[in-house]
Amino acid sequence: MSKKGILVVFSGPSGAGKGTILAEYLRRSPKAVCSVSATTRKLRPGEVDGVHYHFVTREAFEEMIRQGEVIEYTEYNGNYYGSPAGPIRRQLEEGRDVILEIEVKGAQQVRAKFPEALSIFVMPPTFEELRRRLTGRGTENEEQIRARLQTARVEVAMAPDYDYIVVNDVVSEAADRLGYIIEAARCSRKFNQEFIQDILSQT
Ligand code: 5GP
Repeated sequence: MSKKGILVVFSGPSGAGKGTILAEYLRRSPKAVCSVSATTRKLRPGEVDGVHYHFVTREAFEEMIRQGEVIEYTEYNGNYYGSPAGPIRRQLEEGRDVILEIEVKGAQQVRAKFPEALSIFVMPPTFEELRRRLTGRGTENEEQIRARLQTARVEVAMAPDYDYIVVNDVVSEAADRLGYIIEAARCSRKFNQEFIQDILSQT
């Protein structure tokens, strides 16, 4: 089997529970890592530079784009977000699975550049449940919730472009399914092309 790690694209609407599923999955799978994105948005309370994001200026971000230092990027709510190329390539070479928690436009770019990447979309059990979770957080007003639900509609419409859909009903079960999918992908034809050629060259 290929010794490289798997590049995993993980998307889903805000409120679907991506972060919670990932935290549970990473706790169980020390071999997997989450890529730390660069962003130009402001640090939120509780966030740590270099842990949650690399917080950079617009000038620095645009220089990263020019130098090809991000494998994908997007502008979301007026801020840049991108996945730094160097650490991702290095960790994949070391055999670590690298998870990119990114939105749908970035996911499209990754699929185009890395056909062997695995893409997974997290879905709430129902749209009503998503509305309930966003309202329950109490961090957004009515107008912001409406805007987020509208964005969610656009994002869910992109779900058919992904390899797998994980419904987040019970977090531990969703994390189980994420694990099964990643292990199945490790055995997939598309991920083992080099390995097959390698075996053939030994015959
Ligand atoms: P937030 O500002 O709430 O942390 O993130 C906003 C959105 O940007 C989320 O949907 C998140 O998944 C996405 N995002 C975070 N990092 C990246 C990135 O590096 N690239 C892309 N394309 N999206 C990202």
